[in-house]
Amino acid sequence: MNASYLSFWEHDTFLKNIDLTIVGSGIVGLTSAYLYKIHNPEKKVVVIESGVLPHGATTRNAGFACFGSMSEILDDLTEMDEESCFRLVKERHEGLLNLLDLHGKSKIGYIQSGGFEIFFNEDEAIFEECLSKIDYVNHALKKYAGFDTDVFECIELPKNWGIKAYPKAFFNPFEGQIHSGMLMQHLLKLCHKSGILILNGIKANTIEVNHQHVTIAAHPFDIKSSLVLICNNGFASELLPELEVIPARGQVLVTSPIQNLTLEGNFHHYKGYDYFRNIGDRILIGGGRHIDLKNEYTSTIETTPIITNYLISVLKNHILPGKEFTIDYAWAGIMGKGATKQPIIKKINDRVGVAVRMGGMGVAIGTKVAQQAVELLSSK
Ligand SMILES: Cc1cc2nc3c(=O)[nH]c(=O)nc-3n(C[C@H](O)[C@H](O)[C@H](O)COP(=O)(O)OP(=O)(O)OC[C@H]3O[C@@H](n4cnc5c(N)ncnc54)[C@H](O)[C@@H]3O)c2cc1C
Repeated sequence: MNASYLSFWEHDTFLKNIDLTIVGSGIVGLTSAYLYKIHNPEKKVVVIESGVLPHGATTRNAGFACFGSMSEILDDLTEMDEESCFRLVKERHEGLLNLLDLHGKSKIGYIQSGGFEIFFNEDEAIFEECLSKIDYVNHALKKYAGFDTDVFECIELPKNWGIKAYPKAFFNPFEGQIHSGMLMQHLLKLCHKSGILILNGIKANTIEVNHQHVTIAAHPFDIKSSLVLICNNGFASELLPELEVIPARGQVLVTSPIQNLTLEGNFHHYKGYDYFRNIGDRILIGGGRHIDLKNEYTSTIETTPIITNYLISVLKNHILPGKEFTIDYAWAGIMGKGATKQPIIKKINDRVGVAVRMGGMGVAIGTKVAQQAVELLSSK
């Protein structure tokens, strides 16, 4: 730290006697800050964020409030045992209920749109595999995830949507859409109202613990605090290399408004790798990681021609065939992945906890993970 960077006044107010510092202002960091402060109103809580705006996945995602499509669940079952796989779906579903409890629907632009899984003609074998297992999956969701009714139903793809795809699809009525910017704004409002200090433009570089406090060596100045919670998700291994968190990029495009757009809802394709939805009369499309998987394990926040061209071809050939559109927005965001789809929520020592590696469904699990992280911080 540059010793002359801060004035006496700044030290004596903003940075004095901090009880808890949270690194990262995504859904997990801000929700943790808010819940901790609610339970400990006398404590001084500070959140530091490297970006001028939050620069992780929470404001760069697709805004699906979802918990897994048929082919994604079946794909997970090739790597996980039945109980772990469906308990993970349960965690996501409960997490979505927690999210709605905390914010209410209108504050985060929630629409119970339902979710559809579509198949291109060349995916017929995947569709048949899903169809043959639909009863099994619905039964397991009742057994392990607490649903009292079937989750997935096989339907005819409505022709008036104009989607060029296999004529049958799966529908899940429990899915919804959120407005990710509204979620972040509401979280910031809750934090500000409860007296949490959020400092943007501060990047944590290393963490050093001693008996009295933790020092976060950061740019442009260091921070001392009694407790620290690391919530920087896909960037966690830059700060704590011992954590098994692999940065994984996702890329997203949003079209210009489409005349006479009839489709509405969340759409999944190919084991959860591709996804699209309407935002009013625009289409948001993301994914395509599977076509350049090796190069998409990166923390570089930029779009690439190989993925954007693929997404545009899916738009042109399948979602909006024959319709005029341009791409109005294109961006990338970073997820945290690992050998399993479970997040890492643990204490590294008495003073430092971590809640990272949210994977591709952090909207679903983020609020619940924050609750668990706050309980962990409060435990001896
Ligand atoms: C393209 C894309 C689409 C997605 N779509 C969906 C979806 O539709 N539905 C869904 O459920 N999930 C989706 N996800 C995943 C979801 O967005 C994430 O799992 C979730 O937002 C993670 O939240 P978080 O708070 O853990 O981390 P983040 O939101 O990533 O927040 C971490 C914060 O830490 C900050 N930071 C990093 N390093 C440091 C440091 N050293 N010092 C200070 N600050 C630091 C970052 O700038 C960032 O703001 C998507 C992700 C991507 C990338």
